[in-house]
Amino acid sequence: MPIKTIIEPFKIKSVEPIRWTTRAERERLLVQSHYNLFLLPAEDVLIDLLTDSGTGAMSTRQWAAMMIGDESYAGSPSFERFRQSVQGIFGYKHVIPTHQGRAAERILFSVMCKKGDVVPNNTHFDTTRANVEFVGAEAADLPIPEARQPATAHPFKGNMDVAALEQLIARVGRERIPLVMLTITNNSGGGQPVSMENARAVSAACRKHKIPLYFDACRFAENSYFIKTREKGYEHHTPKQIAREMFALGDGCTMSAKKDGLANIGGFLCTNDDALAQQEKNLLILTEGYPTYGGLAGRDLEAIAVGLEEALEEDYLKYRIVSTAYLGRHISAEGVPIVQPPGGHAIYIDARAFLPHVPPAAFPGVALAAELYLEGGIRSVEIGTLMFGAHAEMDLVRLAIPRRVYTQSHVDYVIEVILEVWKRRAEIRGLKLVYEAPFLRHFTARLAPL
Ligand SMILES: *Cc1c(COP(=O)(O)O)cnc(C)c1O
Repeated sequence: MPIKTIIEPFKIKSVEPIRWTTRAERERLLVQSHYNLFLLPAEDVLIDLLTDSGTGAMSTRQWAAMMIGDESYAGSPSFERFRQSVQGIFGYKHVIPTHQGRAAERILFSVMCKKGDVVPNNTHFDTTRANVEFVGAEAADLPIPEARQPATAHPFKGNMDVAALEQLIARVGRERIPLVMLTITNNSGGGQPVSMENARAVSAACRKHKIPLYFDACRFAENSYFIKTREKGYEHHTPKQIAREMFALGDGCTMSAKKDGLANIGGFLCTNDDALAQQEKNLLILTEGYPTYGGLAGRDLEAIAVGLEEALEEDYLKYRIVSTAYLGRHISAEGVPIVQPPGGHAIYIDARAFLPHVPPAAFPGVALAAELYLEGGIRSVEIGTLMFGAHAEMDLVRLAIPRRVYTQSHVDYVIEVILEVWKRRAEIRGLKLVYEAPFLRHFTARLAPL
């Protein structure tokens, strides 16, 4: 019999202690942080599932590469290695390093969009939406209808509604759509993958109307693994071959290396368009840095160059996707409503279904996240009414899994905590907003119990 147990495909060389707090301490900490877990000191969190962004553990190969980082202002060999790694996977002509994904977004939309434009996406991530809106353009989300139904399973729930894209182009006109974006995997939609078939259809629609297609590529490796395991014809492809095939359908990308770059900081912007690349580099110099470092240290470029390759390793991807699904399966088996099927980097609890007595205006997602912290010191994040305001179609609590950080027993602990909260869900009350900032309010909002 072949061995069925899937293990963490690494051993641990350096450990970082985590700290318990008492329930009384957590009660006080919740009040002090105004029920917004972004405002908690990280040392008071036991298991931090706030985000998978920049929270991954680097490998011995990455740490070794950092030591050969060259810190020359211009023309660093570290940039050369970074560029070759990115081009080997993404295949685009110009590679522009940035300090993280949102800097790539800001530069891309500043150069390509103006007031009155419309940018379609399967679903905009929060920083992507904010950067589109900041230049006066409209961010249009066009997910397939199944994406709006948390309980409905679909192998490629991240897909874009191609008919809706065609209708939008017909309605507003091609001139007002400077680019189309496809987010792989669809983070705000539940970490759900986009199929190659869908990417091909979106690409064909874009080419027909001569609109450039850009990928928001943050979790391209996880998306590739889902295609390998779920889409017919890709069983024998490597994740890297799948990634290359997908990126060839587009004209460029934005990327946060804090996700599938397996790095703690960094990002990049790619394009095949020479004129745009020139404008983008001019803006980069103004606010990020010279085009061979873009706000990053040479050692960061080295860590990303290695991390992008490691993120595409099959045994790593298998462990990652399987352990995320394990968390989802064990809580949903007890009745906890989650976005089905489990996503790549996170499990999303449907807070409206978990707390049906708390209306969206009373922030059920924020209330549930606060309760998971109170019960077991777990930090998660609301993706719902606090994050998106009245745009929010769902109130979700995201449990994002940092890469290569937690083990099976940590996941078992998280399952137990969630199930305890599930048992006493009827007692959980909603919250009201007492302070909000004009942009991205969820990061700094203050709330109080109703
Ligand atoms: C994280 C993320 C971004 C922004 O990247 P940062 O590095 O956090 O600035 C953009 N899009 C998606 C889908 C993301 O997950």
